[in-house]
Amino acid sequence: MGSYTAAAVAAFAFGRRETVVDTNIRRVHARLVSGVALPSPSLNAAEMRLAAELLPDDVGTSVHWNAAVMELGALVCTARAPKCGDCPVRDSCAWLAAGEPPPSYVPKGQAWHGTDRQVRGAVMAVLRLADAPVPAEMFRREPADLGFAADGIGVPLSALHRLNSAPEQLERAIAGLLGDGLAELHQGGYRLPA
Ligand code: SF4
Repeated sequence: MGSYTAAAVAAFAFGRRETVVDTNIRRVHARLVSGVALPSPSLNAAEMRLAAELLPDDVGTSVHWNAAVMELGALVCTARAPKCGDCPVRDSCAWLAAGEPPPSYVPKGQAWHGTDRQVRGAVMAVLRLADAPVPAEMFRREPADLGFAADGIGVPLSALHRLNSAPEQLERAIAGLLGDGLAELHQGGYRLPA
């Protein structure tokens, strides 16, 4: 029996205080606490230490904690399309606060490039650098067309445009950020929530 399985059985079947670390729990810890899109490719000692630190001391609470974090990862904080707008811990999420940075590696069988998530991250990178609301048309036209220098906000805008996302995907990304409360419309432009 693997160590994860043994811990899960001890926690869930026998109600013991055990540090359970499965794929879903690792992903939630990575995003919520460590602020990265994905946990490391293989379980490491730092992750185990973090999971042990987060586990509540009370035995009964720890059992609920393991089940709740696992369920959050399975149903809300999913690998491909986390539902941050529905997430009960979004206000504490380090990954959201960091502007949804992309993963440092792409897991086998998964794609990041071309996803809505990538476009959302690129839009957030623009908003983080902007010191005033960014007019909507700036997201839709090449910065060079708008006379931007190749520094400041022009850098993330260029990166966004290099994605060549379809207009509807860009609209979807912006609408998602507005809906999730990560961006807001102000004086005809978009900005981070005040
Ligand atoms: S806010 Fe999003 S990324 Fe953060 S824990 Fe919730 S679902 Fe996961």
